[in-house]
Amino acid sequence: MSKSPVRAQAKGADGVSEGRDSAVGEQGVIRPEKATKRPAGKSAKKPVERPEGKSARKPAAKATVKAAAGSGWKPESRLAMVRRARKINRELAELYPYAHPELDFRNPFELLVATVLSAQTTDLRVNQTTPALFAAYPTPEDMAAAVPEEMEELIRPTGFFRAKTKSLIGLSAALRDNYGGEVPGRLADLVKLPGVGRKTANVVLGNAFGVPGITVDTHFGRLVRRWKWTEQEDPEKVEAEIATIFPKSEWTMLSHRVVFHGRRICHARKPACGACPIAPLCPAYGEGETDPEKARKLLKYEMGGQPGQRLSPPADYPGRPAPALGAG
Ligand code: SF4
Repeated sequence: MSKSPVRAQAKGADGVSEGRDSAVGEQGVIRPEKATKRPAGKSAKKPVERPEGKSARKPAAKATVKAAAGSGWKPESRLAMVRRARKINRELAELYPYAHPELDFRNPFELLVATVLSAQTTDLRVNQTTPALFAAYPTPEDMAAAVPEEMEELIRPTGFFRAKTKSLIGLSAALRDNYGGEVPGRLADLVKLPGVGRKTANVVLGNAFGVPGITVDTHFGRLVRRWKWTEQEDPEKVEAEIATIFPKSEWTMLSHRVVFHGRRICHARKPACGACPIAPLCPAYGEGETDPEKARKLLKYEMGGQPGQRLSPPADYPGRPAPALGAG
């Protein structure tokens, strides 16, 4: 019995029903995905050595990645792109089963504050800064009553500390006065808070309230353009276009996986193409280092055996926690 290609890929590795999702938005002939075929007898899923340790779910492997893509990438139909995009998402889900937000937080308020602080700095620097901040101001009421100069000193390591202090005191006062000291769980309310844009709101909704959201940061935008999922530069337009490719249920985890890949392998300046498991699916293969040995040296965080960004990572994180500020 012949199998419909759509049905054949209807259930992804991550359990998401894909083939009939209206996000595909296109009817038509389904062509074989020539560009995504792997070299015979090779698996592109395991070229990256995982750190030794507790919960790396895949065995380490040293297979060399040979991309079928590269500079000869051919134009593809919308449907082929959607299928390729979903395949990349499934590969990323296998590569980063432990993907998570890389900001330390214990409640929605802490996540909101940490996300505001993360503008123009690294999550690591924010994580190293927030323990003292939350010890001093554990609630919106406490933060709204802060002496600006004292808070500025606490968050100085994150940069733009005067503007961030103003935002944090302002948003804390708004939470206290308008929302009973609670972080609201609606996008429309969140974006009205001082210093809170759509990206911050989506981070909070997706990770503190379980509301699906696509977070377009610098990594996400760079990677989805490299993968030709979109050509848009404006984050809101990127978000809108990516939302048509994936079902809502995938949005939050997709965001984490893409950002994980951008931080660990597909770097802005020197992507580690030669150690990238999704090279056969990538139109930008060859933009970075293709020599497997040299590429492996470019891997970061748990992929490169280095500490992660969170001081308190989730239990399934296979790498090491980040050091406290000044400890390393
Ligand atoms: S590292 Fe980035 S650019 Fe290179 S193959 Fe992987 S996804 Fe593509």
